Parts: sequence; C-alpha cells; structure tokens
Amino acid sequence: MERFYTLQGEGVHSGCPAYFIRLAGCDVGCVWCDVKESWNIDDHPRISVQELISDVVESGANRVIITGGEPLMHNLDELTLGLQERGIRTHIETSGTHPISGSWDWITFSPKKFKKPTEEIFQLAHELKIVVFHPSDIQWGVELSEKVSLECQKLLQPEWERQDDMLPMIMAHLTQNPTWRLSLQTHKFIGVR
Ligand code: SF4
Repeated sequence: MERFYTLQGEGVHSGCPAYFIRLAGCDVGCVWCDVKESWNIDDHPRISVQELISDVVESGANRVIITGGEPLMHNLDELTLGLQERGIRTHIETSGTHPISGSWDWITFSPKKFKKPTEEIFQLAHELKIVVFHPSDIQWGVELSEKVSLECQKLLQPEWERQDDMLPMIMAHLTQNPTWRLSLQTHKFIGVR
C-alpha cells in the first residue's frame, strides 16, 4: 500500500528510525481503524519482493517494520529473509489472526477484539500492545497477557481519539501493575507519518 522511511512512533522501539512497509489487505474490521483504505488488497499495486528490498537498502535503514492492514495475510518468508541477509532487522506489527510466516527480530502482537488471534502468536510475541478504546479493553488485555511469554513486553496504548478519556484509567493500571508500560503514538504528536 505504501512504504516510507520515518521513525517508529509507538511501542518498545518508539523513536527508532525505521523503514515502514504497509501491506494491503485486512479482514479484522476494527471500528476505530485509521487505515481503512488498506483493507481491500485489490485497491493497491503489486510490487515485487526484490523491488521492496532494493528500496529499503537504498534508503540506508537498518530496521524495517512490516505493518498493514494485516501483514500476515501475505507469506513473508522471502521478504524477511532477504532483508536479514542484507543486515536489516525485521519487525512486524500484527493482530495475530493469520498463521505466522517470515523470519523476525521483533514481533509486536496487537490483538483486536474483532477477530480472534491464533494460539501460536502468544508465545512468539516480543511485545504485546493493547490499544485501549474502552475501559474494558484493559482487563481484556490483562487476560490475554496471561498467555504470552515471561520476556514479552506488555504495553497499553490509548486509542488516539480517546486518549484524554483513557489515560487516567491506563495510569491507574500501570501504577498498580508495574510490569506494564505506556505506549503513545508519538509520531502523531510531532506530525510525522
Ligand atoms: S487490524 Fe489494523 S488494519 Fe486491520 S482493521 Fe484493525 S487497526 Fe485496521
């Protein structure tokens, strides 16, 4: 759908330069989705894996974040192995609703209430990022977090439009449960993609 070199704005690697590859296609249907134009694969051009890799190498980036849409609707083996062969770290942001493919240095699992994740993603995730749109999302995230590995980082991130309402409840949870941390969409504060 699009690709561009910017900063990772949210999650554990917030502030790190990263080349984003946004793949088209999503069947999750989040009501608050801010990239609904990604949902229909056929609305976007097909680009070869080799062209994607060449563009990343030319950019000078040392980290790629593959996102969507739901990127695991595509098989990502060839793309991620090709990037890693060139010394580029591979990250994914996924709802975990499709079987995993690809070779990953970092997996951010951001489950959504609108479609159940697979069982395999829980133990593979390095980061569990819960978007908080409603106060009940915090408890929902806590229940899901019982299935991730001990090393997995756990983050609560207020949905952008509801940030002011959700932050007090998130703060209360974090101070009572210090193994969790806050994620903010910093790229939106500083006005970059
Ligand atoms: S999983 Fe992501 S791209 Fe798909 S509907 Fe939800 S927020 Fe949008």
